[in-house]
Amino acid sequence: MSKSNTNPKNLGIESSKEFSIDDDSRDPFAEPETAENIFSKTYRNTGSFAFNGKGRFSRVGRDPSEEQKNIKERNSYRSGSPDRFEDRYPSLELQKNIGLRNPKNDCFMNASLQVMFSIPELMKFFATKEYKNVYSFEECNKKKAYSSKEMILPGYKYCNAMSKLCLDVCSSFKKELEATELRKLFKKSFSKSHQHDANDFILSLFSKLQDEQTLKKRPVSDKFANEQEAWEHYVKHNPSIIDQLFFGMIQRSSRCGSCKKVAHRYESFNQIELECESSSLEMAYQGFLSDEIMKKNQSYRCDECHKVVKCRIMKEIVKMPRYLFFLFKRFNSNMSKITKMIKYRTKILLEDKIDGGPLEYHLQGIILHSESRRGGHYISYAKKGDNWIRFNDASYKPIKSKHIIDKDAYILLYKRA
Ligand SMILES: [Zn+2]
Repeated sequence: MSKSNTNPKNLGIESSKEFSIDDDSRDPFAEPETAENIFSKTYRNTGSFAFNGKGRFSRVGRDPSEEQKNIKERNSYRSGSPDRFEDRYPSLELQKNIGLRNPKNDCFMNASLQVMFSIPELMKFFATKEYKNVYSFEECNKKKAYSSKEMILPGYKYCNAMSKLCLDVCSSFKKELEATELRKLFKKSFSKSHQHDANDFILSLFSKLQDEQTLKKRPVSDKFANEQEAWEHYVKHNPSIIDQLFFGMIQRSSRCGSCKKVAHRYESFNQIELECESSSLEMAYQGFLSDEIMKKNQSYRCDECHKVVKCRIMKEIVKMPRYLFFLFKRFNSNMSKITKMIKYRTKILLEDKIDGGPLEYHLQGIILHSESRRGGHYISYAKKGDNWIRFNDASYKPIKSKHIIDKDAYILLYKRA
């Protein structure tokens, strides 16, 4: 079969032609398309979509095996089921390139967003406003979506701004645009008059988007029999697209220096922070996983013997996210920057407790920071189809894959194969 729209992995895009704005031959639509057109066309097809309760989930009962299936379905974006989302939506142009204008000090946001735009699942989710259906199948028998008022953060302000932006990127024939609405929402925490950190922005954006898709009332528990149980609890009560794509779970086990009792704690995570002491990502990651000793004066109180003791903390990844962020801790608290080259590969192998491994991850995006912390600039490299693109605010151009290993790398994004 030749390359065509019927090939779901191809997404109807000739990826090698990504840079040519004037090339109409890759336009998959027969009629002139407006953003709203594309939206409504795609939205009508959401009956089989994992988050939509009107179809497949409304009939699910409370039988425990059904419940398991439900969790599995709900987990459809997560690391175990690649490409499922793309299979279902052949119409939006998800891997389009577009520049982002920078009126003042916005490179931290632009570089971060370009990496987000390289994630088709995320683009589609926001472009088709699926966040309005997030909890529609919660409690199995509910047939309508939960109201935004029931979410931690009501109003879909951030989701709507993200939606508009993703829709513009997917459907616009412009060469550049400005993330005006989204930028406005962050004007207090990321003032225009200062430079900001791209990682702070990503974390802040993620947390807002999560809160608009997460119920206020949900059971909180920290007692789990094992990692499987902890992860299932997390999946069940954190259904946002951000959780589905970017969150995994880590187990921290502390062994009391006095009675030797081991206590486990499970924490969700969406980035692995690496010290810049090592010369490669792999070594830095080994460093991250190595045991930590908490000294007596760091006041760890053992639950078993109730003494304030020295303890050993052991870390193990319970579940790797589908998209995994690594952060090189280049910035010190005294505002100085570690400029050291840290090598990384385009393909890495990782392990987790639930899926075992080795799990193959491929480099998907890089956010780079050049110069000093106070006067620096952010750009990004993102993989679109088989091609790497270098994004620098309003401009973008292809870059050879041999050039993406760069000493300025600050944040890396890997995708599970
Ligand atoms: Zn103890």
